[in-house]
Amino acid sequence: GDMMSAAMLAGGFHGLDQRVNDAPLAYLDNAATTHMPLSVRQAMDAFEAHSRANIHRGVHTLSQRATDAFEQARTTLKRFVGAGDAHELVFTSGATDALNLVASGLSDAAHAVPVLRPGDEIITTALEHHANLVPWQLAARRSGAELLVLRPDAGGRLHPDDLARLVGPRTRVFAVTACANATGERPPYEELLALAAEAGALTVLDAAQAVAHDVPDVSRLDCDFMAFSGHKMYGPMGTGALVGRRAALEALTPLRFGGDMVEWVSEADAGFAGLPMRLEGGTPNVAGAVGLAAAADFIDVTGRDRIDAHVRALRSHAVQRLSALPGVTVLAPDATRSAIVSFVARGVHPHDIGTLLDQRGIAVRTGHHCAQPLLACLGVGPTTRASFAIYNTHAEVERLADAVAQALEVLQ
Ligand code: PMP
Repeated sequence: GDMMSAAMLAGGFHGLDQRVNDAPLAYLDNAATTHMPLSVRQAMDAFEAHSRANIHRGVHTLSQRATDAFEQARTTLKRFVGAGDAHELVFTSGATDALNLVASGLSDAAHAVPVLRPGDEIITTALEHHANLVPWQLAARRSGAELLVLRPDAGGRLHPDDLARLVGPRTRVFAVTACANATGERPPYEELLALAAEAGALTVLDAAQAVAHDVPDVSRLDCDFMAFSGHKMYGPMGTGALVGRRAALEALTPLRFGGDMVEWVSEADAGFAGLPMRLEGGTPNVAGAVGLAAAADFIDVTGRDRIDAHVRALRSHAVQRLSALPGVTVLAPDATRSAIVSFVARGVHPHDIGTLLDQRGIAVRTGHHCAQPLLACLGVGPTTRASFAIYNTHAEVERLADAVAQALEVLQ
């Protein structure tokens, strides 16, 4: 009956078609990692079977084929996020790696003209995953800049007016998430980025939780850098990208020095290659890049709007069912364009809920979701989080809500 169980089978999400603890698996941990369709696994396997070789420095046929596959993947992914001629895409091992590249690359004191200097300000927000906070803490310490944090209201929402009060002539960087992974809140990042850019700041968007269904278009945003991970968008683990305006990427000191990122090397010195290779030192995960591009194709073939509408409907359904349970508070219940529902239950530890759900084959995530400052701001502890993807069904939402209700009866 449920439309998207057909999508699951058609997509070849074979890992989902299994029983866990004597129940059909309901995989509701997609904000942590999504499963991959068969098309992605086949694309990677075809690369490994026919084109495996190191890239960019071989004259032989396989090396050229591998280079073509890698660069074709780059082209596909640039188109996927709306990157134009003024943009470049750098492959990374994920969003964390991409954000570290930006934060470290802007705060290198050895750089001829370091972007971040003593007295400058970096602004991030309290909605961030630790990957978009801790690198900025380090960047501030390294450069002598000050780190300011834009805080949400009691409902976990960010307001452009508050940012307007925080930015000033010393603001050099503003970094914000496209969706808070701990609550599902989708901040008005278009407005926030525009405001920061107008104040002269470099802008950074963490799109890790958005790319699977609400893909930001970098050419329409005041966005200098955008980071995302492959494994949250139906692609392979350990893949991702940093997309940026060429001029902004040029200002970064590389994170990794060595082969592939140099033009010439003498005993005493080296000249670096141009973008994107300058920021891609060492042998990259070529099969991963091919798989990541196949995942972008999967999203486009399935339909971005269709995926977005589906996960939003599942989220609304879950919010409605869960918030009706006794003692349950759903965080950011009114969040728009969200695939994540996060809740706390009075007197019950989320790990106990998660454990009882697992006994019924339902996979959710429990804890602080690498976002301790946000939960502290909201005055809550660890939460239980369910998150949805194209293959999830309304029947699974019903199973989730029923199982939470039963767990609460046992635990409360
Ligand atoms: N940012 C956000 C909003 C995330 O949800 C995550 C992953 N949970 C990350 C960054 C880090 O992604 P990765 O672990 O793939 O580097």
